[in-house]
Amino acid sequence: MKSFSELALSEPLARALRDEGYEAPTPIQVQAIPPLLEGADLLGCARTGTGKTAAFALPILQRLFANRRPALRKSPRVLVVVPTRELASQVAQSFTTYGRHLRPNVAVIFGGVGQSPQVRAMAHGVDVLVATPGRLLDLMGQGHVRLDGVETLVLDEADQMLDLGFLPDVKRILGAVPPRRQTLLFSATMPAPIEQLAQRILRNPVKVYVTPVASTVELVDQRVQFVSRDDKPDVLTHLLRDPSVSRVLVFTRTKRGCDRVAKRLVQNGIQAQAIHGDKSQGNRERSLAGFRSGKVRVLVATDIAARGIDIDDISHVVNYEIPNVPETYVHRIGRTARAGAAGVAISLCAPEERAFVRDIEKLMRRSIAVIGAHPAEAHGRRAPTHGKPQPASAKAPARERQQEERAGRHGHPQRPVPGRTQTGHAPRQPRAEDSRPGQRDGGRGGQGTRRSPHHGGRGHARLEVHVARSESEQKLDTFGTGL
Ligand code: AMP
Repeated sequence: MKSFSELALSEPLARALRDEGYEAPTPIQVQAIPPLLEGADLLGCARTGTGKTAAFALPILQRLFANRRPALRKSPRVLVVVPTRELASQVAQSFTTYGRHLRPNVAVIFGGVGQSPQVRAMAHGVDVLVATPGRLLDLMGQGHVRLDGVETLVLDEADQMLDLGFLPDVKRILGAVPPRRQTLLFSATMPAPIEQLAQRILRNPVKVYVTPVASTVELVDQRVQFVSRDDKPDVLTHLLRDPSVSRVLVFTRTKRGCDRVAKRLVQNGIQAQAIHGDKSQGNRERSLAGFRSGKVRVLVATDIAARGIDIDDISHVVNYEIPNVPETYVHRIGRTARAGAAGVAISLCAPEERAFVRDIEKLMRRSIAVIGAHPAEAHGRRAPTHGKPQPASAKAPARERQQEERAGRHGHPQRPVPGRTQTGHAPRQPRAEDSRPGQRDGGRGGQGTRRSPHHGGRGHARLEVHVARSESEQKLDTFGTGL
């Protein structure tokens, strides 16, 4: 099946897709739309960038309007729960865009902003509510929102909700929706707690697995440059002076680092904005609008803040720091090369980050080409490569690699080494925004204290990271990406 006309979408929806210039459904749309139109539950393993929002928004809108009736006061008919504010705005926008000829009432609820407009919107009755868990529970507690009229529930980016410590909140939300409902659960990875959740809340779900990893890693021109930590600011400035770097997303691991990098760039005469979870909603929206319009060429972001960034023509992604979870790397570089375009990803790798690059290469089943000087060359230890791209991991001499691994086992930041037993894992390196999980969606009214992610403490977190990783590897094998 290759055309939207074969998906039995109603005329107003088909017209909205034509308005958007969509020519053909993406694989997840082909697989998900027909069963969702029938009212089936769905378990979707897919990342953003696959067209998954339309895959659920289109059939939901169609069913909503086939059975048109006024929404209950304070209770939506459709509830979409998402982990971040940016994703909430974006998903709500998609419902409005795809429903432009049907005109559903769409509301969005998230923390970090005043609650009054959200309360007013709910009081009028909404068809579709897109919400982050913290503020949603807050407004439910205050009696401004009820969930007893929910006919369809979508949990989007469930693995992120788990990472951000939202799983207990999600379970409370599940306790407030009617048992008779259509439920959709999307997650980029399927760690054990998400699988258990899926088993508990989905009834005979249709399972859709779409892994864009292969297309992402194939489309993006990936490079790694070995530099010392101290040289990174200058190397970045130099990279960004190239005019072909027309719109670039620079990733840092921490919020403080994000501010520092943006400030340094501005000092060096490069216009840059920082975006992360501690910035106010207004500030984040202004930065994004500037980046989208082209006024700001360089956006420096943490991973969580970048989740909701859906901009098609990002020419370059720079990993100012290498992520310790390989899937995060794939997710980051997928911000460029969207909608089939080409893109460049450059990773600045300090000596202590080389193990992360090796893990990334292993996950992708491909090597990342090295640009610039190799660290070992400076010491005259390597034979020349005659310009042939070498796997980044092959670059470090064996002795050096052994030293790094030993260092990792003895307390240096290091992610779990695949294949090692659980007990052999080094402690998980704190993720970018681990330090203040309550700030993720602005917290409850901006002051909540969030429980720490993963009930069982760090030990569980380590296991889950490992499980998630093995699952992705398995998927790469299962779906024959040919890498
Ligand atoms: P998503 O995975 O929902 O974040 O969607 C990623 C991007 O793909 C968004 O910019 C959508 O507007 C776009 N998109 C979704 N479906 C299609 C389609 N069938 N054809 C072209 N673009 C699409």
